[in-house]
Amino acid sequence: MLIKNALIIGEKESFEGDIRIEGERIHEIGPALHAKEGEKLIHAEGCLAVPGGVDVHTHFDMPCGEIRTSDDFYTGTRAAIAGGTTTIMDFSEPAKGASLQSGLDCWHEKAGGRSFCDYGFHMTLSRCDEQIEQEIVSMIAQGVTTFKAYTAYKGDLGVDDRELYRLLKLMKKYGTLLMVHCENGDILEERRKELGKEAPEKIINHALSRPNEVEHEAVSRVIDMASLVGAPVYIVHTSTRQALDEIRRAKQRGMSVFCETCPQYLLLTEKRYSLPGFEGAKYVCSPPLRTEEDRRRLWQGIREDVVDTISTDHCSFLFYGQKSQGREDFRKIPNGLPGVEHRLELLYSCGAASGLDYTKIARLTAGSPARIMGLYPKKGVIAPGSDADIVLLTRDCPKMITAASQMQAVDYTPYEGMEVSHCVRDVFLRGHQAVRAGKVLTKVPKGRYLPHRV
Ligand SMILES: [Zn+2]
Repeated sequence: MLIKNALIIGEKESFEGDIRIEGERIHEIGPALHAKEGEKLIHAEGCLAVPGGVDVHTHFDMPCGEIRTSDDFYTGTRAAIAGGTTTIMDFSEPAKGASLQSGLDCWHEKAGGRSFCDYGFHMTLSRCDEQIEQEIVSMIAQGVTTFKAYTAYKGDLGVDDRELYRLLKLMKKYGTLLMVHCENGDILEERRKELGKEAPEKIINHALSRPNEVEHEAVSRVIDMASLVGAPVYIVHTSTRQALDEIRRAKQRGMSVFCETCPQYLLLTEKRYSLPGFEGAKYVCSPPLRTEEDRRRLWQGIREDVVDTISTDHCSFLFYGQKSQGREDFRKIPNGLPGVEHRLELLYSCGAASGLDYTKIARLTAGSPARIMGLYPKKGVIAPGSDADIVLLTRDCPKMITAASQMQAVDYTPYEGMEVSHCVRDVFLRGHQAVRAGKVLTKVPKGRYLPHRV
């Protein structure tokens, strides 16, 4: 197959050219490649050819108390591929006290034969006992080399500092990577109690119970611990200017700290929590949306290469039926936003509008996450030998993001009414065309499990 006359977005530069795909891989890239006899031609004049998106932070089919996220692997990855994301990494979460193996088996069952994207797993570590080292070694052998710990949610998913320190030492020993959700759990629980007593019906109290300091304190503590141990660390969903500054300083000291943020922190602010009625519940996620100043500084962090990756933290709950559990009490609103479908279009559109180079957007949404998670150069880049995961984006027919037109199995989108100038036309997963003219072609999921390596 030959993709003709696209603006190819490479790692460092963009150039007009053609891409030849043979089998499931990119065979060659160049100006004016000649079509072979019988070769299929895809005309891409006026389109960008960007690497298939790599979203390394999703929660599909995730239990949450009595309910579960509204997107499972089938609907979630179908929406992802419709939006140009060809690889996802989801968090496998063993039940409380259960073995890592039981968590991995469970996630394989959820995703097997039901994923439109290629997929890998991170493993959540919510305990650090005698057996954990052996279990981690077994995970590595099965292609899981990235792990996650929570400094919040103690008594459930969270670990304390002693456990976190031990886990970081194990990561160092095996060359694996710990991703950390950084919020000071004790303080935020205390504030939730206080604010829940005062005015449980006010949704803004969700944000006030988890202010910037709560994130910053945990980021700073985790960075210090990682520095002490000499292990790299990946800070998930960075939302505040203070945390960003902390990460910048650690990088300047030469530490391996990776910074992830998400479209919601780049595009929305906490003003949404004060919308009339119960509307603000749509935006309840943790960490919460922040101020305009935080938003502006995160974009600055992108320009200065402090931010490494932009993932979605896609975690969808229905507005009617799930979010509505918290109508009387903000503490009962399930935390999470949908977004896997719109990440690429939003970032290429808003990024370009704010003057970012296309190559940088490609690195943030594909190249860097693939590198950090051990999937590169198979994933994340348009280069000979890499998987032919390619997205053609058009720039001449802008569209509006609406819940009515989305594929995510959820009854709203936090980006309702936003116009995107860069829209997905065609998507190829390992050379197979998955999307044509914006429509998902197949009902049969073709995604494969991606073991990753240290
Ligand atoms: Zn998450």
